[in-house]
Amino acid sequence: MKTLEQGNFENKKVLLRCEMNVPVKDGNITDDTRIRESLATIKYLLEHKAAVIIMAHLGRPEGTGYEGAFSLKPVAVRLSELLGINVALGGDCFGDKTSEQVSTLKAGEILMLENVRFVKGETKGDEAFAQKLASYGEVYVNDAFGTTHRAHSSTAVIAKFFPNDKYVGKLLEHEIVNLEKLLREPQRPFTAIIGGAKVSTKIDVLKNLVDKVDNLIVGGGMAYTFIKALGGKIGNSLCENDKVDMAKEVMQVCKEKNVNFLLPVDTLCSDAFDNNANRKTVPTMEIPDGWEGMDIGEKSIENFKNVVRNSKTILWNGPLGVFEMDNFARGTLEVGKCVGDSGAFSAVGGGDSIAAVNKLGIASKISYISTGGGAMIEYLEGKTLPGISALE
Ligand code: AMP
Repeated sequence: MKTLEQGNFENKKVLLRCEMNVPVKDGNITDDTRIRESLATIKYLLEHKAAVIIMAHLGRPEGTGYEGAFSLKPVAVRLSELLGINVALGGDCFGDKTSEQVSTLKAGEILMLENVRFVKGETKGDEAFAQKLASYGEVYVNDAFGTTHRAHSSTAVIAKFFPNDKYVGKLLEHEIVNLEKLLREPQRPFTAIIGGAKVSTKIDVLKNLVDKVDNLIVGGGMAYTFIKALGGKIGNSLCENDKVDMAKEVMQVCKEKNVNFLLPVDTLCSDAFDNNANRKTVPTMEIPDGWEGMDIGEKSIENFKNVVRNSKTILWNGPLGVFEMDNFARGTLEVGKCVGDSGAFSAVGGGDSIAAVNKLGIASKISYISTGGGAMIEYLEGKTLPGISALE
């Protein structure tokens, strides 16, 4: 893969795929993190005298043409503010006006095309749409890690029209370098903390990680499927009955590979899914009927922290309890703080984990926060991501 440093962008029209799918409420952006994270590449290209054409998506429009609610207008406005230069918006959704705007674009200027998902072909990876987009530029740069697990027209298919002129953007490069660090050369001991609600979305990651980690900590709602697999009583706790066998398999492989597998030994449970419900701490294997596990208990917090403190590499994906409710946030908070203070190389990914890290105020202590939830998971599963392989 070619990095930006290997390219010459002077007076070239550069098609840049960015991840700018930000939350918008009543026409206002409520969190501009993704736009700010895209700045490094945009600035690099402008400084190297490119004419930059940005491709991005916002939300989930129907794919049948322009829809005001999903226009990239607010994104273009915010990007203008952050860069201090005008960012023009593609006027008519890939029609003649857009072509004209592209043809008159000069070095040092930016044009943001309208939401690529206004065209149905985009998410289907339609080649004709990819070719249309490709006709706008001379160079292709992909910086949208969050969509690299999708074989869409603008994220993957388009690359074939630039066999010698395709590059990996700064943000995407940063993600790949850090993910490779985790998967290929982690300093040991390497600990993975996997939490969250659903085993089914993370079982493949667990299977792939078993080969790589020294310690595997499972917490959150998904832990109870494992507890059930061990014959424990889990009351009303979350459980995916069709994943019980897979959970057994993961634990068996951990045994065979000498991976230290940890589940919570105690659980803070409640008699309703409510912050103010009655609560008590019980052994995880003995959750009474009518009660559900909401957070890990004090003994588990200590056990997990002891492992974290002795780790040199930590991967954390998914909260250890229902952290959105203050009464059930302690496990995630305590272990999260310990990760931040451990001095280990720490990586955090997934929307909820990032929300937890922000809520805890420990973002600055985490070595690497991935911008892509699904994409990070698929990378860690060992899958080939179409948006990345298309650049190779
Ligand atoms: P995921 O998207 O799979 O990472 O799940 C994140 C969600 O898991 C968060 O909204 C948490 O509130 C939820 N969660 C974590 N622990 C539990 C639990 N013990 N019971 C129910 N939900 C949980």
